[in-house]
Amino acid sequence: MIRDQIRADEKPFRVSRSRQEILQDFEKLIEEKKLFGADRDPAIMDGAEFDRAVVKKKGKGTRFLIRKVPGRSKLLRRWARLFKNAISPYALFDALSARTHEFEHREKLLLFSRDRIIYDTEIFQGEESVGELTLSFASLRDPALGVLGYFSGARLRVVYIEHIHVTAQKSGYASALFRHYERLFHDLGFNQFRLSASLSVGRYYWAQEGFDFSDKSEIDKRKDGLRVLVKERGLPVREVEIGRLNHAYDFARFRRDLKIPVYRDAEGFYSSKADDRFREEVSLPLGKAFLLWSAPWEGYKTIYTNTPRRTGFVTSVEYLSHRTRAGHVENPGRLRALLKAIRKHGLRSSLVYLSPYVPDLEFLEGIHRAEYLARFRESVRKGEKVFSTADCSICAASFDVALLAAGGVMAGVDAVLNGRVDNVFCAVRPPGHHAGRDSAMGFCFINNVAVGAVYARAVYGVERIFILDWDVHHGNGTQEIFDGDPLTYYCSLHEHPTFCFPGTGRRMERGTGAGAGLTLNLPLKPHTKDEELMEIFEREVVPEIERFEPGLIMVSAGFDAHERDPIADLDLTEKSFAYMTRRVCELADRYCGGRIVSVLEGGYDGPALASSTLAHLKTLQGRSQECLSERG
Ligand SMILES: [Zn+2]
Repeated sequence: MIRDQIRADEKPFRVSRSRQEILQDFEKLIEEKKLFGADRDPAIMDGAEFDRAVVKKKGKGTRFLIRKVPGRSKLLRRWARLFKNAISPYALFDALSARTHEFEHREKLLLFSRDRIIYDTEIFQGEESVGELTLSFASLRDPALGVLGYFSGARLRVVYIEHIHVTAQKSGYASALFRHYERLFHDLGFNQFRLSASLSVGRYYWAQEGFDFSDKSEIDKRKDGLRVLVKERGLPVREVEIGRLNHAYDFARFRRDLKIPVYRDAEGFYSSKADDRFREEVSLPLGKAFLLWSAPWEGYKTIYTNTPRRTGFVTSVEYLSHRTRAGHVENPGRLRALLKAIRKHGLRSSLVYLSPYVPDLEFLEGIHRAEYLARFRESVRKGEKVFSTADCSICAASFDVALLAAGGVMAGVDAVLNGRVDNVFCAVRPPGHHAGRDSAMGFCFINNVAVGAVYARAVYGVERIFILDWDVHHGNGTQEIFDGDPLTYYCSLHEHPTFCFPGTGRRMERGTGAGAGLTLNLPLKPHTKDEELMEIFEREVVPEIERFEPGLIMVSAGFDAHERDPIADLDLTEKSFAYMTRRVCELADRYCGGRIVSVLEGGYDGPALASSTLAHLKTLQGRSQECLSERG
């Protein structure tokens, strides 16, 4: 929906609009009472703080906004300065409202104040008013250039989110809208996209600032700047702590325990030193303070992991009818424990429930050999107790349920790529990552994640897909299926093959032929703990995702690396799963519009599986750490 809109809007704003066209739009807006100058409004004049009450509408309310419309040449001048005539006023309205099937902006206004243009709207879903939004566009002197900037006329063009409020259930809309805006303003050539204040959207509170650097070399410059500051003030910060910062988000969160005084000016810019302009002293966490004054922030505002997202949840009671023999660890009780925890922790209402469907056998034959699928079906039909290997326990429903598990991932892919949800978790069973083209093993029959990846490429044209597999076992089936594929990256973190099933997944297995270099196996020693895992994840996995720039990230999310899991020996906790999820969300935001399709693999201790999945889901939903502890 929003994403469809983004695609439709992908025309670059290179063509300059004529003055005539812009003027025509102004006349139309004036006639429709959608454009007003607010020059004489004392609350907006003189660069004073924006006063929300001034443009706050109630009911039909345009009544308090009527002011003399400024002269046309003044309007045109202002427009040229802010938008470089790259877009006409009406086209801007359309682009800003990003109308979707469900949401639209009504009561839209453009206001001209002394130094900025303000966009104000109410947000409707059908006939229901669900929120309001105020943006402003300003052209500011570049404070980094100082006096030089003043004389050279170099200015920064900045978009501020002055105010947004949407009701709790619609907060996913706000995050989708912001992502659309990041792109739009970037394309329009704005230098910054900023929050004027902390924002409260529904039950979420966005106080955290994260900035993406448009140029990687910026990060090193920032690190150098931070080192200088640390030295200058003798702050208790070690070099190794600075060394590991590799994203603007990390800077923003850096050393929140360490507060330092900084100075603010009337416009909200910060400085490390007080002077006539920067007078107001505030105390801020080191990382945030540093970011705030190391202006200009090249790039634009991105709101990372505390952004609420719409997370889909695929499951079906049918998944319980694949019954394995008594005492088998991969049994329906796993999924029951998981579903019960979701109910108990009140997550149901915040997830978008999605149903799986039965995929075409013909489509599955693109992943598994037809003869293999026929053999599996036949084995089930004959009432055999196992298929292929002793661990692959089956019952009369197993073939149909295995198909439905793959169809569950396909339904998840549909929802994410259609924009119905931002990301999705597919709570399916039986699991899939050990199933190869022609083989069942390790409780797996059909490779669900592989089916999803092939489907995303075939139907939605997603080119590069990164599959991250953090199940404690190596996903040998997935590796085999994509081994020579130049467009699918397979990365697995698992217990070392010397100690653990299935005995594959060594570092030297890096993919073959056209897929050489697109497999990465990271075997972990038994009893690996959270800190070590996170360190390896940062050092080895993150750079590979960055290098690959995927169009979709898929996760083979097994939770059997948990310390309580009975069948493997890693000592991870929920913390690792939340951490990896957060990082994957950030990377997905950067490279693929937040698109993540996560698929359940293993996890054989009921309570550990439930708590790990909850941590994973809440992080996918973009809840902060505070939120994580909010209701268990
Ligand atoms: Zn496993």
